[in-house]
Amino acid sequence: MPNAVEFDHVSRHFGEVRAVDNVTIAIEEGDFFALLGPSGSGKTTCLRLISGFERPTSGHVRIFGENSENLPPNRRPVNTVFQDYALFPHLKVRDNVAYGLMVRGLDKRTRHDRAEEMLSLVKLGGYGDRKPAQLSGGQRQRVALARALVNRPRVLLLDEPLGALDLKLREAMQDELKALQKQLGITFVFVTHDQGEALSMADHVAVFDEGRIVQAGSPEEIYQRPRTRFVADFVGSANVLPPTLSARVGGEAAWHSLRPEAMEVTEPDSGRLAGTVVSTRYIGPVKRVTVDVGGERLTVAVPAGRLTPAEGASVGLGWAAAALHRMEEE
Ligand code: ATP
Repeated sequence: MPNAVEFDHVSRHFGEVRAVDNVTIAIEEGDFFALLGPSGSGKTTCLRLISGFERPTSGHVRIFGENSENLPPNRRPVNTVFQDYALFPHLKVRDNVAYGLMVRGLDKRTRHDRAEEMLSLVKLGGYGDRKPAQLSGGQRQRVALARALVNRPRVLLLDEPLGALDLKLREAMQDELKALQKQLGITFVFVTHDQGEALSMADHVAVFDEGRIVQAGSPEEIYQRPRTRFVADFVGSANVLPPTLSARVGGEAAWHSLRPEAMEVTEPDSGRLAGTVVSTRYIGPVKRVTVDVGGERLTVAVPAGRLTPAEGASVGLGWAAAALHRMEEE
């Protein structure tokens, strides 16, 4: 079976800017695939290459095995949900959803029924007669989703779709989107700069930096075994140990990552390293205790409720040997 989407050495340059630089990826049908990276790293350009609003400078984008070069956007089995929703303010919610069907020339009855079906799917049954301005942000987001799904795309592209929502609503929508994707069984390609969002929702994640994919894999692989310092730092702020410090704690003289939650604060003389607490910061379920170990600083996540050492205290740091992960040189 062909992959839903394939990038085969794809680049998209704008003058000097290498927005997408030699990217090769395969996205399987039915996958929830996240493109994760900082602002300007090329994620949106990748989505536009899939939707056909952008052409590669070099390389090939294949959709279900077909070379997409000569496929205009409206002939691709793909639809997009935009961060700003892009709803028509003067149209009722139902007509916003049915718009794509009207363009395709379907009759009024079918348009109405399919729009209502999509509105119930996103839990907005009964809202069809409202205008977008009469909805909350979260509800507008659902309308945008219904509108993108009404043409029954085989691949749904989502460009930071939850970016405009507050934290609580965003978390609720993350669960709903994930459930909806499983229910419909279609491929989702999801752009985000929020690593928590990517890790919690996606089956596979590609981490972007400056137009390139620096690592692709399952959320666990990316989180537990970051390939480079950039990934370790961007995905969940790991401690990064330079070669000299790694050697001091019994590892090879190479760059390593060490997750704060894999570490514990011990008595000064019973850890792998000794140091001085420079700060403790409370962030909900954990406290982040930062310890100076002779020039380098390491952060430990201490579960809330555990006793935390005071700033200035002498402590030890411990971890299981397997928690120290060797990274590639950059
Ligand atoms: P964000 O999260 O901020 O949306 P992104 O990762 O989606 O960022 P892109 O929008 O793909 O990044 O942009 C990648 C780079 O390409 C940026 O440096 C951007 O300024 C540049 N770029 C994108 N589109 C164009 C264009 N049409 N003309 C010139 N430069 C562009």
